Amino acid sequence: MRQILLTLLLLSSLYATKIEFEVLGSGGPEFDGRASTSYLLWIDNRARLIIDMGSGSMLRFEESGAKIEDLEAVVLTHLHIDHSVELPSFVKAGYFSKRIADLDILAPDGNKQFPSTTEYLETLFGEKGAYRYMSDVLTNDSDSFQILPIDVKDVQFTDKYKSFHLTLIKVHHGIVPSLALRIDIGEKSIVITGDTNNVNRDIELLAMDCDLLVAHHGVPEYAKGYATELHMKPSDIAHIAKEAKVKKILLTHRMKRTIGQEDKTLLEIRKSYKGEVIFAEDREKLEI
Ligand SMILES: [Zn+2]
Repeated sequence: MRQILLTLLLLSSLYATKIEFEVLGSGGPEFDGRASTSYLLWIDNRARLIIDMGSGSMLRFEESGAKIEDLEAVVLTHLHIDHSVELPSFVKAGYFSKRIADLDILAPDGNKQFPSTTEYLETLFGEKGAYRYMSDVLTNDSDSFQILPIDVKDVQFTDKYKSFHLTLIKVHHGIVPSLALRIDIGEKSIVITGDTNNVNRDIELLAMDCDLLVAHHGVPEYAKGYATELHMKPSDIAHIAKEAKVKKILLTHRMKRTIGQEDKTLLEIRKSYKGEVIFAEDREKLEI
């Protein structure tokens, strides 16, 4: 992976005047007034990449003014409901858009408990899928545009998209195949941890010198038991930020067990990381 990151640093062909990161959904799976996880990458006022599509995210997408026609790819960090459930709503809305270009859906390969991306799309839109009335979207005879599954294994680097490069790595999230990703846009970079407890210490290298670390803040410092199999504590996030020398942390995937604990979370993070820390809200947009 070192080689991949080095290659990324050497790539300077991309140029962007304005890069923004928008939180469409800052929540987790609970009903708490927030949309579930979803983010947009904006480049020169066009939304080029959407990451995750949790509950409520498509309403936020609409509010943001993003256009389905402008997207170059979709990443689903994993197939938990709070990260993926609005994909069908997106595809249906796409039918009424002007988009005709294919759209890649990048998400993890599967295991015994979870489908691969290919299986997931088949389960939704295949001949025997729940939404088989739209099975054409998996074919090049689509009435609108074709969606193309990409099953991400272990580590994947892609330079096929015009506006950004992606590095996707598998991370530990209990039994769930799950991804963290780095987005490089010219000399700027954003790293999204996805849901993980980072037990394998994968994210420090991925996040090296990034401008923004989008960290999923699903548990408080005192968390114990199964929740710590799934999520990082604030001190874990701070450790990554310090080791990787990240410029800014955005804490998102906020849940009832962490909301109202911001002072304590910040105290924990300040023990090792001195940079800027932001608690995300829906529709928050940061210029990178
Ligand atoms: Zn989640």
